[in-house]
Amino acid sequence: MENPIVELKGVNHTFTMGMGQKLKVLSDIDFALYPDEIVALLGPSGSGKSTCLRIMAGLLKPSDGEVLVDGKRLDGANPWMSMVFQSYALLPWLTVFENVALGLEPHNLPKAEVRTRVKKAIDLVGLEGFEEAYPKELSGGMKQRVGVARALVMERPIICLDEPFSALDVLSAETLRAEILNIWLSKKTQTKSMVLVTHNITEAAAFAKRIFVMGTNPGHLRVSIKNDLPYPRDERSSGFKSLVNNIHDVITQAIIPDTPEWVPPALAGTSIETLPAVPLNELIGLLEFIAARGGQGDSFAISKELGKDFGQVLFLAKAAELLDFVDTPKNAIVLTDFGKRFIQGDVNVRKRVLHEALKQLKLSQLLEAKLREADHLALSIEIVLEHMREWLPNENAQAVLDTLIQWGRYGELFGYNDDTKEIYLDVGQENA
Ligand code: ADP
Ligand code: MG
Repeated sequence: MENPIVELKGVNHTFTMGMGQKLKVLSDIDFALYPDEIVALLGPSGSGKSTCLRIMAGLLKPSDGEVLVDGKRLDGANPWMSMVFQSYALLPWLTVFENVALGLEPHNLPKAEVRTRVKKAIDLVGLEGFEEAYPKELSGGMKQRVGVARALVMERPIICLDEPFSALDVLSAETLRAEILNIWLSKKTQTKSMVLVTHNITEAAAFAKRIFVMGTNPGHLRVSIKNDLPYPRDERSSGFKSLVNNIHDVITQAIIPDTPEWVPPALAGTSIETLPAVPLNELIGLLEFIAARGGQGDSFAISKELGKDFGQVLFLAKAAELLDFVDTPKNAIVLTDFGKRFIQGDVNVRKRVLHEALKQLKLSQLLEAKLREADHLALSIEIVLEHMREWLPNENAQAVLDTLIQWGRYGELFGYNDDTKEIYLDVGQENA
């Protein structure tokens, strides 16, 4: 893993109030932001989210602990970071252009460069044509676009957003959220990483790869939730919705994770083994080849003899290993006893052995369970694909299902009925 670009190490913070009373607001914060990621600080009001951002930005010196930027101790304002605030913080007497240009003033850049950079930032947030407008002429969503443009124009590697959407109506918030994500995904800007502060679970789940859940009294990090759903995320998909439910359960303590970094059940599916898209006849071909050479061989030699690409042979071997037909110590491919039973058998034995092998796979177990719950042991292909996306959010569901059905047909475990467009559970072997 790369080094963090910003780190908070053992940060504590206590405010001294007017009458000299002390208010401890942050306790033992250890936080790291890595290149090319978005993290969210998710927590209720008063949990110290904004204070964390101000410390990261170098606007507030923590009473205890240190801030590192690119491994170096931060002293003063953080030159790598720009901020976007909930309140927009626009100056009403300046135009959109002037508001965006404001942050560049201390840099004394040539006028032409300022123009180019400001125009680029304004275009990115979709405000071209509004350069000469004043803030009071703009809707909330447009004001926040100016806020984002003002951060982009600085061309710094980190953008921190402090509850940037909470003053907006639901629809404007959703639109702006998607656009900011697109700007980040397009890699057309200098922005490498972002920190989003929010009390909205959906927002955190849509944006972040890691979600730090914060608690109050004093503010502390409760748990970090890993979110590997691929971008762009579909907020209406069932996978996304279950993730939001899981996070909700953690926050309300219906689930109390026992690890500092927690993978929500909705995403635990990522540990389900996918199926490599391997045609069964090629897999059988490889096994027969190895069986004919005494049950084992070196994968490099095998690929040469077969006239196949080395990578393709490894891919086939991986598929065979998944079924427990071979082991692959070092560069060798060795038939297991189970694999020998398969390859030495006639077609009926092969079907039975493959049936057994498939039943060991987590993915087929999940599908079998769904089919057993269904009427007539069958489900429409759309529904099955939807489940696949939930179980393997990072895979091409269609390709995995094609492979599973192809193997399942031979192993007489699953089948596909082209007339009804249904996947069905084959119970022929159970009844035999
Ligand atoms: P959040 O952003 O999560 O709502 P904040 O970081 O704004 O939380 O505030 C955390 C706590 O610190 C709150 O109790 C707040 O009242 C207090 N606080 C924030 N800023 C100051 C300050 N400048 N002086 C005193 N107390 C403060
Ligand atoms: Mg705040």
